[in-house]
Amino acid sequence: MTAPFVNIHTHAETGDGIELVNLDDFVAAPCATFASAGLHPWNVGKCDHQKALAAIENLCQSGKLDAVGEIGIDRAIDTDISLQMSIFKQQLDIAKRHNLPVIIHCVRAYSDFLQVLRQNPGVPMIFHGFSGNATTAEQLLAHSARLSFGHKLLTDSKLQSVFTNVPNDCIFLETDTKQLGISDIYTFAAGLKRISVDELKAIIFNNLTRLFGDRWTTVG
Ligand SMILES: [Zn+2]
Repeated sequence: MTAPFVNIHTHAETGDGIELVNLDDFVAAPCATFASAGLHPWNVGKCDHQKALAAIENLCQSGKLDAVGEIGIDRAIDTDISLQMSIFKQQLDIAKRHNLPVIIHCVRAYSDFLQVLRQNPGVPMIFHGFSGNATTAEQLLAHSARLSFGHKLLTDSKLQSVFTNVPNDCIFLETDTKQLGISDIYTFAAGLKRISVDELKAIIFNNLTRLFGDRWTTVG
């Protein structure tokens, strides 16, 4: 049996393989069956934190979420970093309480996350849209982080060489907000790893089941 495609981070369901769909409006009714939700750092400065955190906790409690995220730190926006970190940590605690993996949004903040990873061993964290260098990748992987690669992989030659050297059991692929097929990213990524698309599908599907157990089977 050929393993299905896994799109570990998208904002729109397409029906192509297993998709972890990020619910952007999680306070309204969630619809995706394999879903993540969280208070994005871009929204930290413009919403009622307690209301958002309570909504996330409720979704976790009712079994409607399979991951918390995307959450994280973005040093390219104006929102106070200590506020971002506080909101992030409260959401990390929710994920820990419910035993869920976390989807990380990280912009110019990899060193902040080394600290977080050190303090939270055993919490599965997937860095979505990873675009760091080889040293950063190595440091994150030393703390058992997983790295998800998206559209930048197609055009960024430095990132391509980072991806080629990242151990296969630590990788995921994603489309995020891009109008791009997950199959296109797989085809390109398999070329970089010099393996077949089917081999890559098997590797990433295995990575999925190791982190999510059989949660993905709620799909469809
Ligand atoms: Zn996203």
